[in-house]
Amino acid sequence: MTDQNPIFIPGPTNIPDRIRNAMNRQTVDHRSPKFSELFGSVLQDLKTIFKTSKGTVFAFPSTGTGGWEAAIENTLAPGDKVLAARHGVFSHRWIDMCQRHGLDVEVIESEWGNPAPAETFAERLAADKAGAIKAVLVTHNETATGVRSDIAAVRQALDRAGHGALLLADGVSSIASMNFEMDAWGVDVAVSGSQKGFMLPAGLALVAASEKALELSRVSKTARCFFDFQEMLKANKAGGYPYTPALQHFYGLRESLDMLSEEGLDRVFARHRRAADAVRAAVSGWGLELCSKSAPHHSDTISAVYVPAGFDSNVLTDLVLKKYNVSFGIGLGQMNGKAFRIGHLGSITDTMILGGLATIEMAMNELGYPVALGSGTTAAQQLFAQRS
Ligand SMILES: *Cc1c(COP(=O)(O)O)cnc(C)c1O
Repeated sequence: MTDQNPIFIPGPTNIPDRIRNAMNRQTVDHRSPKFSELFGSVLQDLKTIFKTSKGTVFAFPSTGTGGWEAAIENTLAPGDKVLAARHGVFSHRWIDMCQRHGLDVEVIESEWGNPAPAETFAERLAADKAGAIKAVLVTHNETATGVRSDIAAVRQALDRAGHGALLLADGVSSIASMNFEMDAWGVDVAVSGSQKGFMLPAGLALVAASEKALELSRVSKTARCFFDFQEMLKANKAGGYPYTPALQHFYGLRESLDMLSEEGLDRVFARHRRAADAVRAAVSGWGLELCSKSAPHHSDTISAVYVPAGFDSNVLTDLVLKKYNVSFGIGLGQMNGKAFRIGHLGSITDTMILGGLATIEMAMNELGYPVALGSGTTAAQQLFAQRS
């Protein structure tokens, strides 16, 4: 067995050696100027990734789920009405969290494989003359289905309706891998995490708040402590943290931001697009279907692939792990057993993609899928050959 094989789960993702080495650090005093300087530069440079100049970025020792909690606790109060679409496991979990926090969620049910429906958001917002809806929640990239939603279109829906609701966006599996424009899209709170596009271990919730969201957190009476923007802001401004920071993660994140900037964000996005196009070429070469129903909404970071009727996708992901020591994502929720997921985000190269596709292709062939050896990999090679 080897630990050199990449993983193809959509998070946590592969960690480049540069980042692993950068994190291999002895503890420094988190109250020392050295640490203030480090996290100050990290928070500043994260703004480039969120594409915000006016927003404030926070790094909580947590995961993306904590980022969701920070977004709602700081800007909303129990009883507030929020509008959200459910079209996969992650959008569902955020809705579930809102309900547990006593928010009144108006859920737009959308078939899995579809994006959050901007037209339905527009209708509901236009109908809400009294302005009862306090926030609109959008999952930018639904990691369960491999579908990208159009946040700019939801912004337009808000603006056209002249509606003042907040726009809260989950970019956990898109930010740093796919274009995300916090300021241009008028996002009030954007949520990400360290273990996907940022190529780190789990451990940081990266959350960017607009001026409006910060002001709401200042006047809010909602009970919260750990994720309080104001307390974090005060401590960060004084060069520190309100509690123990995830210290070594900041060395890793510094390296990650350097790597993203050396490559150039546009090239990072193009690399993800190319990897995704190669995966999609392979899926069509295999004669299989993506869960994502419309090409403009296909995700560049993850692809969910239906297995043919009569096959169990869990048997496939089990075999490929046992026999080849390579992990792919299982189907989540209603897709369990029916689809597997290929994570192609973060530290990913054309060569890794080819290796992963060839391996799962062999496993499918071995299990008697109607998938010929070479059918998908050749299509992916052709795609790379055209794009190189
Ligand atoms: C991974 C993920 C989350 C949850 O993040 P955790 O770090 O596992 O808490 C939330 N939303 C999306 C879209 C994700 O992909």
